[in-house]
Amino acid sequence: MLTYLDHHASTPCDPAVLAAMAPWWTQNAANPSSRLYRPALEAGAAVDIARQRVAEALGVDSDAVIFTSGATEANNLALRGVAEAALERGEPRRRLVTLASEHRAVLEPMAWLERHGFPLTVLPVESDGRLDPERLAQALGPDTLLLSVMAANNEIGVLQPLADIGALCRQRGVLFHCDAAQAVGHIPLAMADLGIDLLSLSGHKLYGPKGVGALLRRPGLPLAPQQLGGGQEGGLRGGTLPVPLIVGLGAAVAGALADRQERAERLGALRDRLWKELEALGGVRRNGQPLHTLPHSLSVTVEGVDGTRLHRQLRRVLAVSSGSACSQGSPSHVLAALGLDRRAAGATVRFGLGRGTTAADVDVAVAAMGDAVAELRVPL
Ligand SMILES: *Cc1c(COP(=O)(O)O)cnc(C)c1O
Repeated sequence: MLTYLDHHASTPCDPAVLAAMAPWWTQNAANPSSRLYRPALEAGAAVDIARQRVAEALGVDSDAVIFTSGATEANNLALRGVAEAALERGEPRRRLVTLASEHRAVLEPMAWLERHGFPLTVLPVESDGRLDPERLAQALGPDTLLLSVMAANNEIGVLQPLADIGALCRQRGVLFHCDAAQAVGHIPLAMADLGIDLLSLSGHKLYGPKGVGALLRRPGLPLAPQQLGGGQEGGLRGGTLPVPLIVGLGAAVAGALADRQERAERLGALRDRLWKELEALGGVRRNGQPLHTLPHSLSVTVEGVDGTRLHRQLRRVLAVSSGSACSQGSPSHVLAALGLDRRAAGATVRFGLGRGTTAADVDVAVAAMGDAVAELRVPL
C-alpha cells in the first residue's frame, strides 16, 4: 500500500464525520427550506448547528457563514461578488491586489476580473515565500478595492503575516479576503482579530467531505451572489443545502479544532525529523521560510536529479506531490514565484503529513528518498 503523504491535496474523511453524516443521507432526506414539517425543521436545525461550529472556529457569529461547494467556489464568490457589488454601487475603488503564489482558485477569478475592468496588481513574494509588508504598503493605494492573500500556501506551507496585512488593509480602507483552505483546522485563526473581511475554507482539507466549504463574510459587507436560485444563504448562494455535507463540515471543523494543538505538535516533530534525515542525504534544499510554515508541511528540492525520474521512483511507495503539473509539464507557479527554475521545480517533493501519519511512514519516506537519490544522482 502507498504511504499517503499528500494531505495538502486532500485529507481522508474522519470516521466520526462520516458517522455524523450518515443519517442525513439515509434517514432524513428533507429539504431544510421546506419548513412545514418536522424532518425539514430538524434538517434546518442540523444546518444551524454546523453553521455555529464553523463560525465559532473562526471566532465570528453564525450569520457570517455562507455554505458553498468548496474553497474554489468561496473564492469566486468573494472576489467576483465584491467586484460586482462595487460596480453596482458605483464604488470608485476598482484595483485588486494579490500574490503570485496564490492558489489558481484566486488567480483565475482575479484574471477574469482584470479582463472585465478591474485593474490587477500581482505582487511577487520573497524567495522564502513570504510577502514583504513594505511592498504591500506601496501597492495598496486609494484606488484599491480588495486584497487577497492566502493564510497558508498549499505547495510550500508558508504562512503569511495575516495580522500585519489585516491592519494595513483596515488603515487603507481595503477589503481583505483570505483563502484559508490550508489553514483552518491546522493553525489558530481568529477572523476579526486578524482584520479579515472574507475567508474561504474547504471541508476536504480538514478531514471532512469533499464538495463542501464556506465563505465567511463580515456581516453587512456588500457582496453580489454569483449563483442565483432559491434564495438560500440569505440570497447569497442559491441551491438546495447539501445537509449531509454541511453536517459533515461542521463535525470536521469541530473535530479538527479538538485535536489541532496535539496534532500540530506531533506532526511538527515528525516533519522536523523528516527534514533532518533528508538534509543528511546531502544536496536537498528546503523551500519556504521554515519558521512560518504549517507544522505538517515540508517542501524540498533535490539537486542533481531528474524530476521526472525522481517522481517515477517515489510513486512506487509514496503518494506525494511534485513541483509541476505533470500533464502540462509546466513548473508550478508557486515554485517559480520563489525563483526556482523548471528543473528545480520538477525535482521538488511536497510532503504533507496528516492525522494518520506515523513515525514508520516517515521512515518509509526517508528510505524512498534515499534510494531514489542514490540511484539517480549523477556523480559530479
Ligand atoms: C484545495 C484548495 C483550494 C480549493 O478548494 P476546493 O474545496 O477543493 O475547491 C483553494 N485554495 C487552496 C489554498 C487550497 O489548498
